Amino acid sequence: MTTKDALDRPKLGEPFLLTPGPLTTSAAVKEAMLRDWGSWDGDFRAMTASLRASLLELLGEGADAFDCVPMQGSGTFAVEAMLASFTRKDKKTLILSNGAYGKRAAETMAYLGRPVELLDKGDYLPPRGDEVAALLAADPEISHVVAVHCETSSGILNPIREISDAVAAAGRTLLIDSMSAFGAVPLEPSELAFDAIVSSANKCIEGVPGFGFVLARKSALEAAKGNSHSLSLDIHAQWAHLEKSGQWRFTPPTHVVAAFLEALKGHQQEGGVAGRGARYTQNRDVLVAGMRKLGFETLLDSRWLSPIIVTFFCPADPAFAFPEFYDRMKTRGFILYPGKLTVVESFRVGCIGQMDEHIMRDVVAAARDVLTEMGVESAAPPAEALVERARLAA
Ligand SMILES: *Cc1c(COP(=O)(O)O)cnc(C)c1O
Repeated sequence: MTTKDALDRPKLGEPFLLTPGPLTTSAAVKEAMLRDWGSWDGDFRAMTASLRASLLELLGEGADAFDCVPMQGSGTFAVEAMLASFTRKDKKTLILSNGAYGKRAAETMAYLGRPVELLDKGDYLPPRGDEVAALLAADPEISHVVAVHCETSSGILNPIREISDAVAAAGRTLLIDSMSAFGAVPLEPSELAFDAIVSSANKCIEGVPGFGFVLARKSALEAAKGNSHSLSLDIHAQWAHLEKSGQWRFTPPTHVVAAFLEALKGHQQEGGVAGRGARYTQNRDVLVAGMRKLGFETLLDSRWLSPIIVTFFCPADPAFAFPEFYDRMKTRGFILYPGKLTVVESFRVGCIGQMDEHIMRDVVAAARDVLTEMGVESAAPPAEALVERARLAA
């Protein structure tokens, strides 16, 4: 394996996680977890304040109208907290779904017993601004729209700008699941109209799992009082408690917070959202070019590829079997991610975490060697996969 990259590499022998979180973290992030913190103590309260302020700063211009509320649990807990705290019980919420996370948002609303309108685009077709505009014009009962920024199940970067424009033009409120994009793809309130976004510690900021966070308009936070169905997932209550005492309401993941502050330092040193986005984009470009050279095809047309994660079709060659491909790639130090499509077989390769283009070249070289070992002559996908893809381009 080459070691030319300047990143803070994981310890020798630890595989690279080519997955969209948990992901490969720096040695400094891991080392930051080697001390215990009292959650009540002033030192930890200062850490929480610093975390909230740094995340707001990442939002960019217009962030002063927002505040940051961290929430214990994985990303899904924070999404549920956002939906429960901001959507209305007496109005409809339009969910824009094109994959597992949009589906999960709709499922969450069903648990909450709140009215939903669903735009279901299937596995990977993008929800477009004109479709959103038409749905909103047809139904004045819709108050909120939920969009997934990067739908991690296919890797599509949804057209958030045109969605935001359509929602704002109709005078409705946008909530964004930017879990896998925030920190690497710009999301400035001065450019996009939204009331809240949600992300988590173990995605593009490159921390370890343990909490999510909501960045919401202060006016929306104030209006959310009493709106959550849940004691623990109440964003308003967490916010009010943080504002009053500087503390999380219930036991915070102290070590995860310490690691996250270290991760934020690394993010800043890399040049913030622009710097991180540039590295991930380079990772993706090197990966996609290399894999295409081997004969692999991406599910998505280049214009929809996110810099976060890429879906490749499994080769049609009968010598190819994903479980064996996975095991052999793992032996070479790379953990891949299975696909989530319903029609054709696929797998995914993440571009986020402590990896750069040199690592991505190693990934491609390992894939080439593994195909040879398996006796796969062509990495080309089955014909029906390309038919599917043509549908997307149309
Ligand atoms: C990771 C992710 C989530 C949250 O998933 P968890 O497994 O609960 O962390 C939600 N939405 C998107 C788009 C994601 O990528």
